[in-house]
Amino acid sequence: MLSGMKEQKQWDVLVIGAGIIGLSTAYHIKQDNPDLSVLVIDRSNAAAQADTAKSMAAIRDTFTSETNRLLAKSSIEFYQHVQSELHVNLNLELIGYLWLLTEREFKTFESIEAGMRKQGIRLRTVERKDLAGLIPDLVLDPASEQSKIIGMVSIHKGVQGLDCGVVSPELIAKFYEDEFKKSGGELQFSTEAKSLRLEAKNKLDLPGEPYVWQEKVFAGAETNRGFIKADTVVIATGARAPVLLDPLGIDCLVKAKKRQIFQVKGNALDRLMNTKGFNDLNTIPFTILPRGGVYFRPVRGEKSFWVAAADDLGRAFAFDDEPMAEETYFTYNIYPILSEYFPCFANLRPANSWAGFYDINSVDSTPIIDRIDNCILTVGMSGSGIMKADAVGRMAAAILKGKAEAALYGERRISTTRLGLTNRSVGKEEFVI
Ligand SMILES: Cc1cc2nc3c(=O)[nH]c(=O)nc-3n(C[C@H](O)[C@H](O)[C@H](O)COP(=O)(O)OP(=O)(O)OC[C@H]3O[C@@H](n4cnc5c(N)ncnc54)[C@H](O)[C@@H]3O)c2cc1C
Repeated sequence: MLSGMKEQKQWDVLVIGAGIIGLSTAYHIKQDNPDLSVLVIDRSNAAAQADTAKSMAAIRDTFTSETNRLLAKSSIEFYQHVQSELHVNLNLELIGYLWLLTEREFKTFESIEAGMRKQGIRLRTVERKDLAGLIPDLVLDPASEQSKIIGMVSIHKGVQGLDCGVVSPELIAKFYEDEFKKSGGELQFSTEAKSLRLEAKNKLDLPGEPYVWQEKVFAGAETNRGFIKADTVVIATGARAPVLLDPLGIDCLVKAKKRQIFQVKGNALDRLMNTKGFNDLNTIPFTILPRGGVYFRPVRGEKSFWVAAADDLGRAFAFDDEPMAEETYFTYNIYPILSEYFPCFANLRPANSWAGFYDINSVDSTPIIDRIDNCILTVGMSGSGIMKADAVGRMAAAILKGKAEAALYGERRISTTRLGLTNRSVGKEEFVI
């Protein structure tokens, strides 16, 4: 080496993406391996600025897939542990998830109920007459002219997920970031990985390497601030994952789909906000309506409701750097359904709105956690990355150590290949909302 030229640092692990998934992964890697040098980079100027900051901030353990239930349940219990035993406030409130179901939907639900209960998922069925008594703002049988045009259906029963609720994703991300830094981890912001560098494992220093016959390794990432060298690279770039992986011919199955949230306020919503009988906080749970995938959650601190819809068929897979919410989507898609079941929303318009992306695993709507040589993927959260982030981080850390099983919070175990691209063993998730 020429005198005066500084040799480039080689990190043990480079995590690309400081959203909740990258931060949980970096934290768990550092917890398991205090001596490893770990760097997290992000293109934003701070942590958790992308989809982690745009979510409904809700958590549930009610999924159709046993794997998703495991990931979510263990993560939610870890967040509860952080808040109640480590005394770090995460604004976690178990207000519940309430599905308002038609007769047919309830039958479908009954077919998976036993599996859920067996796994320790706590559920409560709310009879129709009790729904009417508990939620005076709810219309069980919409009968207006408009409701006939829309094809509104009667609500048969409710099902409440009891260990579900809301949380602050930003506070969870901050917990991981703070603990990661305390254990010696480093973060570098305004640093965008432009591409991953693939090199020959045993370089011959010939032009055009790596050749097809050479064993290849990921050497690190080319960024706007120069090349960052690492022994292992973790991809935690959310909806942008294909940007780094497609050019290398790696199909991570992730597709970006826009989701939007509308904040609605008004005195007419006070009674709904203060609904009793579902939780200790005397508020209405996160509620899913039986038509159009429309749902809402109360935001007690803001005295508002966040309203959205599980916008699927007809909504393109497409990515945009600055997605905007569409007010017409609220007016013509969400509002007619919302105001028929809950007339207290009548004539109210969004005070605020925003949009982000689900990084959907287009095959089974379940995360992908895998290793391709010395590159670890933590992608495809499919709209539920907040509620699964702890388990995802633990699985990625176990994969780094070459373990066959990961230990999730609450003494649960999961095979580290279960969420891999190959040898995958998960059922398709039906409850993507
Ligand atoms: C409207 C909406 C509602 C949602 N509601 C919920 C919910 O209620 N509950 C729930 O659990 N989940 C919900 N989700 C999903 C949840 O937000 C995501 O699953 C989660 O945030 C994914 O975290 P992440 O760290 O993978 O992604 P992100 O938070 O997007 O983080 C990825 C990071 O990588 C960085 N990055 C990307 N490319 C590069 C690069 N090349 N170089 C450097 N940095 C890069 C980005 O800047 C970003 O900070 C919702 C999502 C949306 C959009």
